[in-house]
Amino acid sequence: QPELSGDFAELMVWADEVRRLGVRANAETPTDAATARKFGAEGIGLCRTEHMFFEGDRIVAVRQMILADDEKTRRTALAKIQPMQREDFVELFEIMAGLPVTIRLLDPPLHEFLPKTHADMEVVAKDLGVDVAEIEARAHKLHEFNPMLGHRGVRLGISYPEIYEMQARAIFEAVAEVQKKNGKSVIPEIMIPLVATRKELDLMKVVVDQVAAEVSQLSGQKLDYLVGTMIELPRAALRAGEIAESADFFSFGTNDLTQTTFGLSRDDSASFLEKYQQRGILEHDPFASLDIEGVGELIEIACERGRKVRNGLKLGICGEHGGDPASVFFCHKAGLDYVSCSPFRVPIARLAAAQAALGGPLKTE
Ligand code: PEP
Ligand code: MG
Repeated sequence: QPELSGDFAELMVWADEVRRLGVRANAETPTDAATARKFGAEGIGLCRTEHMFFEGDRIVAVRQMILADDEKTRRTALAKIQPMQREDFVELFEIMAGLPVTIRLLDPPLHEFLPKTHADMEVVAKDLGVDVAEIEARAHKLHEFNPMLGHRGVRLGISYPEIYEMQARAIFEAVAEVQKKNGKSVIPEIMIPLVATRKELDLMKVVVDQVAAEVSQLSGQKLDYLVGTMIELPRAALRAGEIAESADFFSFGTNDLTQTTFGLSRDDSASFLEKYQQRGILEHDPFASLDIEGVGELIEIACERGRKVRNGLKLGICGEHGGDPASVFFCHKAGLDYVSCSPFRVPIARLAAAQAALGGPLKTE
């Protein structure tokens, strides 16, 4: 495990004394969570739960779930995944020891989970008791030309609420277990991705609230939790006033917000972005450092409209920009509560947050 030591560790202590912005980390594995803490993260700002399902048995169960054509079969596949999810969360809560943990419900680009090879199709076909041609046909139906603008995020939760229900149950059962063991309350922050309208959030909140009530009754534990949303679509930023009526917190997903504000693919745009910088159209890659004039204005609008409705609404950022110094300065000025970045960027974010509090970057001759 990496560790901060010597003068560098001391510099970090000075930085922490002056900064106002909180610094959290994006982490979903125990290793990343432990690294984040060693580097001084004050919580997890984004646990991308889809990253927990790429390996081994898990992806097999996820494929079964996606390719099942009825709710009962989907629930059977989800029941296999749930105990693994519960253990993931128990581990994260233990490592984070009472620090805030924001868990984002499933946000997969579906294509990443579809079987790619014939052998993979055969496995799913066997598990679901149908022939390979049928699985091929179902996979074909789920194919999207623009998966990043397609059936992902909350849209999946709307189509298949049982997925978010399973995840909420795994979270609350983990909370109940850790609370019981340690005698201290754990307050998870449950985050709904890719929300464009308040109604989407409201529908998912019903699912989460219902599961919380059930688990609370079964476990005999009091369960406190927050339900918030990512703000990563321009519509969500503009309608932040009404969305805030239903959200306990906002977290700006600036990767998607940059993609959707510019209409630029976050996966394919690198080749011509370079030309844009060479010709002075863009000062920098907007996916690496926040486009303050455009994306930044949307963030400011959302902060203002959200806080007008909910005084003290908790605001964070969890896109890649959370670990970029210039973007961190902007977040400080915009009045955000915290930035969340990859674990190895936490020290940079702590320094940048301190510099921002001291009035901006130090000028060197
Ligand atoms: C984002 O869109 O900025 C974000 C943090 O979510 P993801 O990168 O997982 O889409
Ligand atoms: Mg996103």
